Amino acid sequence: MPDCKFSARVGRIKPSPTTAAATRARELIAEGRPVISLTTGEPDTPTPEFVQEAAIAAMRAGQTRYTNTGGTAELKQAIRHKFRRDNTLDYSDAEVMAATGGKQIIFNALSATVDHGDEVIIGAPYWVSYPDIVQYAGGTPVILPTSAATGFKITPDQLEAAITDRSRWLMLNAPSNPSGAIYSKADLRALAEVLERHRHVWVMCDDMYEHIRYDGAPYHTMAQVAPALKDRVLTVNGVSKAYSMTGWRIGFAGGPAELIKEMTKLQSQSTSSPNAVAQAAAAAALNAPLDAVLANTAALEARRNRLFDALAAIKGLSVTKPEGAFYFFISVAGWLGRRTAAGEILQTDDDVARFLLETHNLALVSGSGFGMSPFVRLSYAASEEKLDKALIALTAAAAELMKDP
Ligand code: PLP
Repeated sequence: MPDCKFSARVGRIKPSPTTAAATRARELIAEGRPVISLTTGEPDTPTPEFVQEAAIAAMRAGQTRYTNTGGTAELKQAIRHKFRRDNTLDYSDAEVMAATGGKQIIFNALSATVDHGDEVIIGAPYWVSYPDIVQYAGGTPVILPTSAATGFKITPDQLEAAITDRSRWLMLNAPSNPSGAIYSKADLRALAEVLERHRHVWVMCDDMYEHIRYDGAPYHTMAQVAPALKDRVLTVNGVSKAYSMTGWRIGFAGGPAELIKEMTKLQSQSTSSPNAVAQAAAAAALNAPLDAVLANTAALEARRNRLFDALAAIKGLSVTKPEGAFYFFISVAGWLGRRTAAGEILQTDDDVARFLLETHNLALVSGSGFGMSPFVRLSYAASEEKLDKALIALTAAAAELMKDP
């Protein structure tokens, strides 16, 4: 290694644990191991045909050049339409922007607002990337633990106690990746009451899984239920999960014009506009009725119900029924302290995830990456065949570990 050095900034972050688990599973599959990977957060259904057609038409029409940094006029219209239709939120063109995935939106927002020593409040379990993006920006994540008993949601008292002069953001995500929890209208109102007293705190609502909800649960987002906060709420969404478009890389946000302007400035000096063809595809998706989305969600709900009963019957596991998204966040507390056939005593959820992969060819992500142990996350956006094999693997693992009373 020459004497060249890396920045302190990049030294503060680690690779995404979900990507790392998925990569390890792919390596083992390439070596010929029959590994079932339920690690990644992406729907297994293809991008709808009409969206693909819109992309092809855009390409043929020459929409293959740079666009405005924050998105084409067509995509901005579609984003505004989506916010009006689904959230009764009225944003102007200056109050919306598109980026290369919801992840870049979050990256832009935190980079544009967080300085060294600033704090960002995040409930655990959280989406793996939040703390790292905060740390890259120089901030300090302030993690509020939750539990199955509180429905994996933060409480107003917790929030009040966590806010300091250095608090910059509260980050909310519902339905949650990984727990599936949804903040109800009453939950959001109660948090809004606290936030109304602290006018220096921005609120980020990551609504990426908005359309993937079960049991007919209604959906509410902060800017809608607390209009008094709208001038400091960033409502984040995208097409990745709802429209099976993870690889197209389009996310978007609505928020105060000043914030959107700074985020767009930052993007103009990093990636410029998102992919032009993908923008046309995303506009087609957002402008269409929600039929394809609702059909996918119905299929996921049936899988959730079947899997919930099967997982609940596995000895040593404890599972909560997710209200949305497509993950089970499973407590493996009952497996800790147990001995594997090879003689290892499982001490942590990382040990459990490694044991499941090495011994039972099942790749899940350990709860430690989501800031909450001892859990594992299982994505059920996968084929019935894969899910059946996963259940067989978990049952065999339980039989191996839970032999003695
Ligand atoms: N937010 C949450 C909670 C997610 O789970 C993800 C993706 O896994 C994202 C944001 C980012 O999605 P994308 O960058 O694909 O739009």
